[in-house]
Amino acid sequence: MSELSNALLEEIVSEVRPLTQQGKVADYIPALAGVDADQLGIAICTPDGRCFQAGDAATRFSIQSISKVLSLSVALTLYEEGEIWQRVGKEPSGQAFNSLVQLELEQGKPRNPFINAGALVMCDLLESRLTAPRQRMLEIVRRLAQQNDIHYDRVVARSEYEHSARNAAIAWLMKSFGNFHNDVSKVMETYFHYCSLAMSCQELARTFLYLANHGRTQDNESAVISPRQARQVNALMMTSGMYDGAGEFAWRVGMPAKSGVGGGIVAVIPGDMSIAVWSPALDHSGNSLAGTALLEKLTERLGRSIF
Ligand code: GLN
Repeated sequence: MSELSNALLEEIVSEVRPLTQQGKVADYIPALAGVDADQLGIAICTPDGRCFQAGDAATRFSIQSISKVLSLSVALTLYEEGEIWQRVGKEPSGQAFNSLVQLELEQGKPRNPFINAGALVMCDLLESRLTAPRQRMLEIVRRLAQQNDIHYDRVVARSEYEHSARNAAIAWLMKSFGNFHNDVSKVMETYFHYCSLAMSCQELARTFLYLANHGRTQDNESAVISPRQARQVNALMMTSGMYDGAGEFAWRVGMPAKSGVGGGIVAVIPGDMSIAVWSPALDHSGNSLAGTALLEKLTERLGRSIF
């Protein structure tokens, strides 16, 4: 088995790089369609304060649905457990991330917080308790990533809003069932801004270290969520973080993970490390194709996963 090092990461990045030509870059908004597919990066952080990286690890990209883990985590700090889980489920959806079919069948209760419907409910919860949910999120990610210049990509956020028919349909359907309490456009604006956060693999690996460290930041400085909540978020990522590809991902990689259509994936080995990979071209489930292959190689070379 190999030891974790920058050299090992460089090696697997060059092995996987040809795969960046496969798959398809998200094109539902022009701001994402223009991203160069030929990019691949990885960064890893460990609870004892070490970080490793290779490839395009310092390039910022649109984190998209990776932000759904952040909105859930913030909601967990603001609400009692029951208040959250009466409004959103904990089961995999087995459907596309922006599907509406189950919502109607299940009286407007999304299957989990990591599909669009579930994340919109999280943003609705944040809207009810925070005076400035967008500013608050920026403060949180800047603190966790230790980077004061992390920002929302206004072009992406605007473009999402201009192509928001489906997310609006999801939100309005939930409202019709009484599972959406605030103004739909206002909450969607927040949701799109969260999706538009521009961050690099380095910043993401640092940010999500709390999930590998029992809810605490690097070097145990402060708690983001409780150890129990960290276990719960990891469990949800394991079953629902990779959309309809969660089973295949568990089989190949074996880590709780969350993907975004910007091509990023954040993965965690609890107690051991947080990992962020990025490559823009996606597979048929909407997960980074080369990013998944990179994680698969990493588990093989390190001989580590949660299984
Ligand atoms: N902004 C995208 C959407 O709402 C996020 C989807 C994703 O990353 N899977 O459709």
